[in-house]
Amino acid sequence: MNFYMPAKVYSEENCVMNHAVELAALGTRALIVTGKSSARRCGAFADVTQALEKYGVSWVEFAEVEENPSVETIMRARKVGCKVEADFVIGIGGGSPMDAAKAVALMMRHPDEDWEYLYDKTAETSTVPIAEIPTTAGTGSEVTAVSVLTRHDKHVKGSIPHKIFANLALIDGKYVSAAPTRILANTTMDALCHLYESYIHSKATDYSRMCAEYGIKVWARSKDVILGRREATAEDYQNMMNASCMAGMAIAHTATSIPHALSYRLTYSAHMAHGKACGYFLAGYLREADPIDVGRILVLAGFTSIDALEDYYVTTCGRDEVPMEILEQTVEEVLGNEGKRKMPPFPVDEAVLRRIAGI
Ligand code: NAP
Ligand code: FE
Repeated sequence: MNFYMPAKVYSEENCVMNHAVELAALGTRALIVTGKSSARRCGAFADVTQALEKYGVSWVEFAEVEENPSVETIMRARKVGCKVEADFVIGIGGGSPMDAAKAVALMMRHPDEDWEYLYDKTAETSTVPIAEIPTTAGTGSEVTAVSVLTRHDKHVKGSIPHKIFANLALIDGKYVSAAPTRILANTTMDALCHLYESYIHSKATDYSRMCAEYGIKVWARSKDVILGRREATAEDYQNMMNASCMAGMAIAHTATSIPHALSYRLTYSAHMAHGKACGYFLAGYLREADPIDVGRILVLAGFTSIDALEDYYVTTCGRDEVPMEILEQTVEEVLGNEGKRKMPPFPVDEAVLRRIAGI
């Protein structure tokens, strides 16, 4: 058993400005990695550039990270970073820019290597320093060592083998307050999947469950907001971000489980948003698990039953019809991956996977 979470986390209002000294101390020129526009719209980009400028640190922007970032995007960002001689990376955004920032930091530290380095299990993993600033309340990428990338050459999406933690995570709920309901629903569903999958996992320990259990309690505080039953407060947004961060700490120790494993094909081939795709399989996963464990974590989130959780998913994320061939394909792919089949604390065969997938 070990517990290792080396990212320094600050979580509070005006977090970036409050800790500008530590952010600026990471280097002399930052490559700021973002998605198309939300980093600017939510105010995080302005806070970061102001914080850097206050301490004389220059910056260059790479604002081209797409959802489910591709290896090609990482290599383009590395080129920009190396050309301007940036010496650290700041990821601002949802999981896509934050995951991209980790991979870019790895490749900037190894400027002569080509893209295959990302997938080289024997390669050395040092990076230039990394700060992560979440603007969704879902992935917890600011505290996980995972970078999930899309490989168009193989038509797949998955984690790279390198384990890369950020040095600094700056969490401010106000950034997520600008997000539309759909993004809030999908990303908080991702966080719930992390919490539940980590709890019901063959690698769960008392320490990982400490993060998961408390994360579920914090997650539950803003459930009514996602359901549209009341207006969100600033505290709700901070709670959503904190739940996502605690969920990240939980999966940093256990990894995710079958719902995530099955979800990647839905995102790649049916273009379903990540959190929604994971949530698609969550109730099915819980139905296979130890009812005592499941009962405990349902109560912690305020669900009376697995069916109530399923209703919540349908109400908040919507349940799309997924083409049968995609469901068949994802079951087959996970069945063929022994590592993934060993993630749950119960045996997984084809029948179990088919029940979880609802086919
Ligand atoms: P995302 O893919 O980063 O972003 C989804 C959309 O939300 C984008 O259109 C983005 O716009 C927008 N957006 C982000 N923040 C916003 C805000 N504050 N207001 C309005 N719009 C906003 O979404 P995500 O669900 O956070 O991340 C999903 C990715 O993370 C997937 O690739 C998934 O596999 C990965 N993931 C990683 C981990 C991990 O441990 N590292 C865990 C789970 C999932 P812009 O394009 O304009 O930014
Ligand atoms: Fe996820």
